Amino acid sequence: MTDCIFCKIAAGELPSKKVFENDELLVFHDIYPAAPVHLLIIPKLHIASLVECEAQHEGLLGRMLLLAPELARKHGLNDGFRTTINTGRGGGQEVFHLHVHVFGGGKMPHLS
Ligand code: AMP
Ligand code: ZN
Repeated sequence: MTDCIFCKIAAGELPSKKVFENDELLVFHDIYPAAPVHLLIIPKLHIASLVECEAQHEGLLGRMLLLAPELARKHGLNDGFRTTINTGRGGGQEVFHLHVHVFGGGKMPHLS
């Protein structure tokens, strides 16, 4: 996906404040944080949104979600955190590369 900003971040062609990386996933700070801690978990593979996910992505989705509590612990979110997946324009999605938001550490973003 040549035109996708998260693919470019995953390829190292655009800068990001990375906090975690392995073969299939990357986590970085959101550029416009909506909470004191606001991270984005993305797969390196381009998947436009949750709607494009299929049975073959079950493991990947599970590993993305299981990373959230680990990240929360590392960022001191001992009181809890919020995970969000915006899907499609009607779901508030602006970047069409699957990502899980992890928010915490204070005031939470509005859900609408
Ligand atoms: P969504 O509305 O769920 O598609 O969220 C996209 C998120 O990506 C927003 O919270 C943006 O602030 C964030 N974002 C956009 N461009 C970048 C970037 N270059 N680096 C980090 N976060 C970004
Ligand atoms: Zn992409």
